[in-house]
Parts: sequence; structure tokens; C-alpha cells
Amino acid sequence: MCQESQFYIYDFVSQKSLASFKMASKMKNWIRPKILQNAARCLSTTYGSLPTSVKIVEVGPRDGLQNIKDVVPTETKVKLVDLLSEAGLSSIEVTSFVSPKWVPQMGDHTDVMKGITRHKNTTYAALTPNIQGYNGAVSAKADEIAVFVAASESFSKKNINCDIAESLRRSSEVMEAAKRDKIPVRGYVSCVVGCPYEGKIHPIKVAEVSKQLYDMGCCEISLGDTIGVATPIAMSEMLEEVAKCVPLNKLAVHCHDTYGQAISNIYAALQMGVSVVDSSVAGLGGCPYAKGASGNVATEDVLYLLNGLGIETGVSLEKVMKAGTYICQELGRNTSSKVAQAKSKL
Ligand SMILES: [Zn+2]
Repeated sequence: MCQESQFYIYDFVSQKSLASFKMASKMKNWIRPKILQNAARCLSTTYGSLPTSVKIVEVGPRDGLQNIKDVVPTETKVKLVDLLSEAGLSSIEVTSFVSPKWVPQMGDHTDVMKGITRHKNTTYAALTPNIQGYNGAVSAKADEIAVFVAASESFSKKNINCDIAESLRRSSEVMEAAKRDKIPVRGYVSCVVGCPYEGKIHPIKVAEVSKQLYDMGCCEISLGDTIGVATPIAMSEMLEEVAKCVPLNKLAVHCHDTYGQAISNIYAALQMGVSVVDSSVAGLGGCPYAKGASGNVATEDVLYLLNGLGIETGVSLEKVMKAGTYICQELGRNTSSKVAQAKSKL
């Protein structure tokens, strides 16, 4: 373990775990994960219950790229997904089956789905706003479908041109078809802490929408801090309320890093028992309807946190960084990942 990651861990550890982390830093690679896992268990008793493994849902190819104005070539998108699959990510949101009139960047959805090399243990998902999108995604052999609903009435109207009730109705239409076709559906709830138009969103509102998606049959509910305004306490309060109606093991968090709080918020969610985290390679993303919202939390940064805590992910940080370097070069932009920035200076 390098010197700086030891310092990073210092912020989190109790005295009890510190000895294990120090010991791990001196060990050979094969034994280090075991010691780190034990240290993570010690942390669990002191700081709430940390999971021993976490599933990362990579949203870069869809959520990350969809806000980029210049259309990214299909082969670049395909190569990005392939690099992410090679990194060991078990869940990748590949594209969105929306009308190209609304989101021109996702107009090549079918070609991207057909072009990727599928790995046996990876789920390739597609976002679908309605039944037409669903049919397209199924023809392109999406393994999983995602639907989305906002927890804020104004955001829903400005973002997808309909109120929450109508967007739940559209989602239920997709759900019915997916049940028939035995395709799992993931539900996104956006603006779970704050909304650019309404300000603070009450946790009860988030819980109501989440419950409806869960009752409809969603296999997982991803709670999105779309504009990245949450702090750990707001995140914990919201999760506590939602967990009253949806089991914690069915919840995921989707954090944006607008105020630099994403990693702290994810840590708070892990302590609450959440074990699914959405993130985007190189921190790609934003939201055209949420002014000032910066990108999604970077997958590289989430991995660094989880590796430091000894939490299993099955994902290679080095290979995700390779995917990040590739896409940033193609887009002609700098990475938003703090970890990638730091490591490129080493
Ligand atoms: Zn996002």
C-alpha cells in the first residue's frame, strides 16, 4: 500500500482497526485483502455496519455521455463499454432508448448494444422512458431495463414533461411488459435530497416514490442525488425513511459530486447497509436540467474508497483508469477523478 492511501485510511479508522491496516500495508498482495476485510469488520462495529462486498453499477456510457453536445462515435462508445467489461464491472448501463429528437447522443443505442462484446458475468442495461423504448431495448437484447421517476414534482415536469403520477404510470406499463418477458427492471429516483427548482426534498416524498416503484416490481431502486447537494446526514436521514418501505439490500445510491460530497455520502450510505453504488468512469456526466450539477462520482474514486476499506468489488482500479484515460482522450477533456489525477502525477 502506498504512503498516501495509508493517510487516507487514517481518516476513517478506529484505533482498534488501525493496527490491522498498518499490518496490511506490510503484507504481500495475497494476504492483504483478508487483513483489510478483518479491519473493515472492526470498523463495522465502531462506525455502523459496513458491507463486505459492494456492487458497482457503471453508468458512464449512458449517464456520463448523454450530456455531451458533440455526438460521440458509436465505435468509441462500444470500445468504452468493452474496456469497462474487461475491468470486471458486473453491471454496466450501456445506453438509453429515448427518442433521438430528445437526446441525439443516444440515437445509436441499437448499434452500441449490438456492437459490444458481452462478458458472461456482466449485466448490460438500458434506460427506457416508455414502452416504445422498452421494445427497442428488448430487440437489442438488453439484460436489464431501467425506468426513472423524480421525487420532485417540478423537476419531473421540466425534465420529462409530465408529473410524477404520469411518469409512474409510464413506468408501470414498462414493468408489465418486462414481467411478461422476465426482464429485471431497475428504478431510478432522482432529486432524492434536493431539487434545482423546489430546494430541499422531504425524505417522505422519496420514500413514497421508491415504494411505488418497488411495489410495481423493480428489483433495485437507485436513489439519485442528481444535483449533488447532499451531505452525509441528509443522505442518512433520507435512507432511513426509504428503508422503512424498501429493504436496504434493494437500494443503491447514485451520487453527484457538485459540492465535493459524493464520497462522504457514499460512505454514509455504506454505514447504513447499502451495498450497491452507481458511479461513472472519469466522473463523466451532469444533468442538462439541473444547472450547476457537475458529474457523477468517479468510479475510480469509489474503488479507491472501497479498496481502502477492504470491501470486495471484483473490479480492477487500474483497468477502470485505463478506460477513463481512453474516453478522456477521445473526448479531449480532463478526467474528473481525483484518484486518476493523483496517480497520473506519481
Ligand atoms: Zn447521474
